Amino acid sequence: MNRTNYCGEIRKIDLGKTVSLKGWVHRRRDHGGLIFIDLRDREGIVQVVFNPDRRGNVHSMAHELRSEYVISVSGEVSPRPSGTENTKLPTGEIEILANQMEILNISKTPPFAIDEETEVAETLRLKYRYLDLRRDSLRDNLQFRYRFIRSVREFLHEKGFIDVETPFLTKSTPEGARDYLVPSRLNPGHFYALPQSPQLFKQILMVAGFDRYYQIVKCFRDEDLRADRQPEFTQIDLEMSFVEREDVLSLMEEMLKFAFKETKGVDLVTPFPRMSYSDVIDRYGIDKPDIRFGLELKDITDIASEVEFRVFKQTIEQKGIVKGFAAKGQAGLSRRELDELTEFAKGYGAQGLAWIKVTENSFESPITKFFSQGRLNSISLRLGAEVGDLMIFVADKSKVVNDTLAQLRLLIGNRLNLINKDEFKFLWVLDFPLLEWDKEEKRYVAMHHPFTSPMIEDIPFLDSDPLRVRAKAYDIVMNGSEIGGGSIRIHSRDIQRKMFERLGIGEEEANVKFGFLLEALEYGAPPHGGIAFGLDRIIMLMTGAESIRDVIAFPKTQKGICPMTDAPSLVEKRQLKELHLKTEE
Ligand code: ASP
Repeated sequence: MNRTNYCGEIRKIDLGKTVSLKGWVHRRRDHGGLIFIDLRDREGIVQVVFNPDRRGNVHSMAHELRSEYVISVSGEVSPRPSGTENTKLPTGEIEILANQMEILNISKTPPFAIDEETEVAETLRLKYRYLDLRRDSLRDNLQFRYRFIRSVREFLHEKGFIDVETPFLTKSTPEGARDYLVPSRLNPGHFYALPQSPQLFKQILMVAGFDRYYQIVKCFRDEDLRADRQPEFTQIDLEMSFVEREDVLSLMEEMLKFAFKETKGVDLVTPFPRMSYSDVIDRYGIDKPDIRFGLELKDITDIASEVEFRVFKQTIEQKGIVKGFAAKGQAGLSRRELDELTEFAKGYGAQGLAWIKVTENSFESPITKFFSQGRLNSISLRLGAEVGDLMIFVADKSKVVNDTLAQLRLLIGNRLNLINKDEFKFLWVLDFPLLEWDKEEKRYVAMHHPFTSPMIEDIPFLDSDPLRVRAKAYDIVMNGSEIGGGSIRIHSRDIQRKMFERLGIGEEEANVKFGFLLEALEYGAPPHGGIAFGLDRIIMLMTGAESIRDVIAFPKTQKGICPMTDAPSLVEKRQLKELHLKTEE
């Protein structure tokens, strides 16, 4: 019995055909002598009917079937008796009248039901991942992932990009996240690192003249895990020669437009909006704002500096700022609800929250006594507040104010249902600072990475005013999540040296760690730039999956464990010895 169809594919036009199917028994029901099987394969479910009146012994064999048995069955496609159609199922208008069946394998009773309804603890799902992957949602997510990757590959191929593999055993360059290290047996005491990204290799491919490179590639970062992080994750990584920022942005817009149309049937509007880093921080308090809704933040430091409210005054004297926004229609919040908001704000480092309710003909708040009517009017005008709104303010150092208000804005946006979950809104964030000051390490660090080019006109400030230097870097944000980032790179050896110097990486250290790059830059490196997208996160947002683990076939838990294989695990003494390693008790 060679398979003629996938179960989930059969439709009314197949009526009358004899089909041969292979699949798993999803459910068995016995009904007035008839036995019904829902047969499942990777394309879906179809109903198979075993009739006791049929010749042969298929009906009695069907009695033996249990959940997750693997069978081969053939029979005729026939319409379901009227009134018994199932409109929820794509195959719901037909059924297969079985006339032959073979049990290919039996199954133990699975530890959880293979359906969407049953809530199952995630560790159990991960331990029996092969069963979990039989469920619709996971299977659909992975199939979607494949289709998305395929459309990206198709697009990049059309545009002349070549897929070149770069090594997984490479050199540790601890600028950025923590490396995964691999001991070298042949070189005692030496270690490879798994790549955090193919950054330097793709740049070197540009020096080599490949012109347009891409790879859909695993990257490894040994960081503490969160819901949207995994120790190994996949990037769509690309690099192009002889381009400026605009070339990269517009090509990537075209790529996303193509892939969204192919996989979701969604028409994205291009070009995507663009905002400078300083603008997004001003308006949203965060560099990855969700722009599907408003509630923009406004700075009221100038007005607040003139009032007699001690909290505002002191903050401003200590070089802090006061910002706020109008929570639409929230003037009715109770004292308890306001206290809850305050607690929420404290979770992000704020000392507290100031609020003023805008009512019919006045303002209500314990702090209004410090404000003249005129100032209250100016504040509500600045915030665009109307009657019924709640004005919320935070006064502190600018980072605390922005972090807190960004989260409050999201909270209120969600609460007010201002976010259309079916919408995809993209944003390019541009003109990032090149450097930031690392308080712990007491040195400047690169905001993206040390290979990002400064804006040419800002290069003179590298010495005099480093924080003022803007980078030729760009991030792409989708619905409030950063989904990618890249830059135009430094292609001059002298500027690259200068950059290392600025980062406190001395000449010798630079040569040891990045000598190969510095040298390559001396042999005719073309101007180049690129970008990398976090594929897992994109697929998570596109499928609406709750966790990144639901779009990866074999993910790890928050503790970096694979409950199915039990990795990481202890190894034998002999193995350690070969690697010249000792572990501490
Ligand atoms: N390599 C960078 C990263 O992984 C992306 C890029 O600059 O292309 O974040």
